[in-house]
This record gives sequence, structure tokens and C-alpha cells, in this order.
Amino acid sequence: MSASFVTRFAPSPTGRLHRGHAFSALKGFTAARKVGGRFLLRIEDIDRTRCRPEHEAAILDDLAWLGLEWEQPVRRQSEHLADYEAALDQLQARGLIYRCFKTRKDLAEAALSAPHGHVEPFRGGPIHPNEEDRWLSELKPFAWRLSIDAARAELGSLRGLRFQEKGEGPGGEHGRIEAKPELAGDVVLARKDVGVAYHLACVVDDALQGVTDVVRGADLFEACHIQRLLQALLGLPTPVYRHHRLLLDANGERFAKRKGGETLGTLREAGMTGAELCAELGFDG
Ligand code: GLU
Repeated sequence: MSASFVTRFAPSPTGRLHRGHAFSALKGFTAARKVGGRFLLRIEDIDRTRCRPEHEAAILDDLAWLGLEWEQPVRRQSEHLADYEAALDQLQARGLIYRCFKTRKDLAEAALSAPHGHVEPFRGGPIHPNEEDRWLSELKPFAWRLSIDAARAELGSLRGLRFQEKGEGPGGEHGRIEAKPELAGDVVLARKDVGVAYHLACVVDDALQGVTDVVRGADLFEACHIQRLLQALLGLPTPVYRHHRLLLDANGERFAKRKGGETLGTLREAGMTGAELCAELGFDG
């Protein structure tokens, strides 16, 4: 099936959904409905240490309770690791990524000793091949990082990478926006224990799923800078972005899984219906 508007909701099954997720899923779903477009569901479960099948089952259940419908099959990232590896291999063959052996502890210590607590984005660059060989033979864990310098050299310049924002970023960003991938530094694209990290899996999947419009919370706006660069390096299309404001709780704070508290599960147990929540969030049938 083809449509000129294809969007996706892409939750990570690391816990139950909350009102903020419901708001985001409804934004995408209603936007697709309005123009006769397609609504896809993608389960971002690459981090096997944090994701749980029971959370995924609860997510599907909660979304159905909200009255959402999505196409089958649902794309589950853990079932497509070969797609991300192929993208990583391409970048590696062109010298665009390098192994970084720094541990989380090394990085935390570097941040602590930074003047005035100001932490520069990571720009380590590859280590000497002899040292790399030694560490590889000692099976020291590493992450693959994207080299901003190598990317700049390959593209000639990092300027001129633009994306279309038809919603709103956290600072009111709207319209044609210039990506500034260098601000993020050399981001991690894959880890030894996880295999692939969010940015790479996200751009590969958005392209493979034919996503034309990314509807997601404004907290993910900054991700566009690096995602736009990855699209340029991998020759992938750039979707239109439609970031939406974040839903705030009664204290004016954003909902977050890690804060615990009210979930769609607790609302359901308290007897609320999906239609009631949709109405409360401003989506009336
Ligand atoms: N999996 C991400 C999250 O749950 C969403 C990423 C995206 O929409 O690009 O926050």
C-alpha cells in the first residue's frame, strides 16, 4: 500500500506508557487519518538490557485501548539487526566511524574535571592502530562512534544540510532548519553489548518503512541534527519532522517513564476508558 503520508509511533518497551506517550501516538494517528495516510508502529527494542517482552505486550494493549489501529507487521528492531549492521559496515568501509574504548567511568571522570562543569561534545578520534590491536586482542569493549571530522571531509562541508520542521522544536524552531551535527560531537552509533544505538536504527528504519513524516515529542528535536547527517552519509531520504509540544503534568513537569507514577495501566485499572483519555487529551473521535 502506498500513501503520501506515512508516520510511525516508535516506543521503547522499557516500561508502561504514560499520558505523554498517548498524546504523541494520538498526534501521529490523527495526522495520518486526516489525510488518508498510513500509521505504523515500531518497537524500538534494541537495548536488550532494558527492554522486556511484557512491556511490549502492554504497549500494544494500551494503544488498542486508546482506539488506535496500525498496520501489520509491527517492525521490531531486535529482529532486524542485519539492516543496521549493513549500514554500519558501509560507514566503516568509508572510514566514517571509529572504535572508542572509553568506559562510561572514563567519560564521567572527564566530565567532572571539566572547567565550570562545561562538557565539550566527545571528539576523541581513532586511537593508534597498535593500541587498538592490543585492546581488541584483550577483548576490551568498545563503541563505534561517528567521526564528525571524517563526515565533514567526505561531504566537503557540514553546512547546507537542512530539514523541514512543520511542527515546533523546543525553542519554537519551525520551517527549514540547518542541521548542526557538530554540536553533538562524535555520537555513539553502536555498542558492543547492544549492537546498534538509537540514531542509526532510527534513520535506517524511517527509510526502510517509507516514513514521510516523523511525528514525535519536541524532546527529540535535537536528534534531527545527527539524524540528518546520517541520512546524507547513507543516501537516505529525509522525512518531514513534526515535533509537538510535550504534555505536562499537573506540576508543569513532563511525563517520564523513569519518574514512575501514573501510567495508562493505572488509569485503566482506575476505570478510565480509552475514549475518556482521548477526550481529555483533546482528541475527540
Ligand atoms: N524510541 C524513542 C522513544 O521512545 C522514540 C524515537 C523517535 O520517535 O524517533 O523516545
